[in-house]
Amino acid sequence: MASYLGVMIHVVHHPAYVTEAPARSTYRWGKNGAIRDLLRGQGDVIAWTEPALIPPVWLEAVHDPDYVAEVLEARVPPEKTRRIGFPITEQVAHRARAVPGGTSTAAMLAIEHGFAANTAGGSHHALANTGAGYCIFNDLAVAAVRLVEEGTVGRIAIVDCDVHQGDGTAALTAGRTDIVTYSIHAEKNFPARKARSTLDVGLPDGVDDDGYLEQLATTLIPFLDEHAPDLILYQAGVDPFAGDRLGRLAVSEAGLVARDTLIADLALARNLPLASTVGGGYGDDVMAIAERHVAAILTLGQKLSARNRLPLGA
Ligand SMILES: [Zn+2]
Repeated sequence: MASYLGVMIHVVHHPAYVTEAPARSTYRWGKNGAIRDLLRGQGDVIAWTEPALIPPVWLEAVHDPDYVAEVLEARVPPEKTRRIGFPITEQVAHRARAVPGGTSTAAMLAIEHGFAANTAGGSHHALANTGAGYCIFNDLAVAAVRLVEEGTVGRIAIVDCDVHQGDGTAALTAGRTDIVTYSIHAEKNFPARKARSTLDVGLPDGVDDDGYLEQLATTLIPFLDEHAPDLILYQAGVDPFAGDRLGRLAVSEAGLVARDTLIADLALARNLPLASTVGGGYGDDVMAIAERHVAAILTLGQKLSARNRLPLGA
């Protein structure tokens, strides 16, 4: 088996992630299928898990039950679907239950194996009573609340490196001491009105690799040391990329890999399990965006899953 010789990277994927775009969608829907296909091309280095749909009770633990019902019954009113960016069909509602299930499952696999990636998720703009910015349910907040309330871990850090602030995640976990939130983002980007994360790092437009990595290291290291989490949920959005249609920063592809290497090293040094989600990544070339997401998964997975490598001679 390949896993005896190298690294086995745990990846969570649900068939419902790959859906047809609903009519009037402004979001590109092909990304999750492209990510799956690129990871399939890695062969048996990848260990696949199909998650269960999230039980509605865990959606209701962070979202307004009326909003949960609107989504699950595919009757979200137009003022909310405009804010989300696409209509909620039955198929989209099914996907919206699969994604937080996937982030929960990735977290459980990370606890067992050091690392796991969800091939979707990172829906950090979803708020208590509405979705927003292409996000329906906040899988990060839902998974984190479930893990601490079930007693699986004591404290979780949600580390959000998407170029947009994790405003929904901050709002949905505000006031908790068992979930802490870190967001590094372009200050002038969406959302116009920011929420307050445990720690926000707002960057000026046009920050390059050196500036980005320096800001990340000098803020995230003390954040992790101060809060001493038992698990990291990592929103690995690739929209800080210089060519991103909705970014405002100037991070290169090598810079993104350096970012994910730094995140992995920080988790490794603290012996912290880490579960990653995807996140933003926008532009016309869906395959190029998927490749950036897969680079993040492989960078994190190769570093963090190495803890499971059998010692020589075992
Ligand atoms: Zn984003």
